[in-house]
Amino acid sequence: MKKCLPAGLWMMLALLSPAARCAEEDAPVWRTVPPIRAAKGETAPAAMKEHIELLKSRLPGENFTIVEARPFVVVGDDEPAEVRRRAEQNVRWAVKLLKKAYFTKDPPVIIDIWLFKDKESYEANAQELFGKKPDTPFGYYSAAHRALVMNISTGGGTLIHELVHPYIAANFPDCPSWFNEGLASLYEQCGEEDGEIHGYTNWRLAGLQRAVAGKKVPSFKTLCATTTEEFYSQDKGTNYAQARYLCYYLQQEGLLKSYYKKFRANSAKDPAGYQTLQEILGRKGDAEMKAFQKEWEQWVLKLKFRD
Ligand SMILES: [Zn+2]
Repeated sequence: MKKCLPAGLWMMLALLSPAARCAEEDAPVWRTVPPIRAAKGETAPAAMKEHIELLKSRLPGENFTIVEARPFVVVGDDEPAEVRRRAEQNVRWAVKLLKKAYFTKDPPVIIDIWLFKDKESYEANAQELFGKKPDTPFGYYSAAHRALVMNISTGGGTLIHELVHPYIAANFPDCPSWFNEGLASLYEQCGEEDGEIHGYTNWRLAGLQRAVAGKKVPSFKTLCATTTEEFYSQDKGTNYAQARYLCYYLQQEGLLKSYYKKFRANSAKDPAGYQTLQEILGRKGDAEMKAFQKEWEQWVLKLKFRD
């Protein structure tokens, strides 16, 4: 669906010459381009206040509501109560639970979250503000503008996916793309269980089940070894789903949070996370991992998409 740069590069671009994407983009055009301040201290309350004042003076229409949800600012043209609800129930909720589960650091920059109320508003305003018609119907992240740009009428799933990336960038800058996208896409469909964020099966399942049935899913060794270029540009259609449902499996087994922590801690000696995956699963070597993959594939085939 979307393509995103790896976490470390994402952060570098966000801070330097932003050009990262969950959608491709060109030169900054918009009237509200941050930065208002250098990155250091940018999300401090005074800077946030200044940012919001500037934003108010540059809104593309009359009917926008601005809600602060540090380090994000939510800007939307739906009913004010609806924009506030999204800020509370999607953004603040997801940030709180993602931080509880994984992250200690907030992104070091203010990021605007534009919630356009429908397709027309999304396309017209993205064009006007960012100089480009979106190439995804759902939404995307624009590091160039430090903005998440969403057609919120398609639901909040993509919004939560995109929220994960700046947190990975801030907390696990060397995270490889496969895990960055696996974790982000896990929360495209999510809720709260016992005070924890919890991903559910989603629309990516059907394609993965077809690929499993057709024996087209690469080994986890191969998935983990993918470079960013390979993950995004040479995807035969299973990369996101395989990564997502590995994360989903680990979550269901109660292993996902410990995998994240161990992976991050060991990333200097195991940057792909494959050794750590074997340790967490208690499987050693290629033969045992092959057996695991078979079990996982059978498990995937039995999953159902609960909408
Ligand atoms: Zn992504």
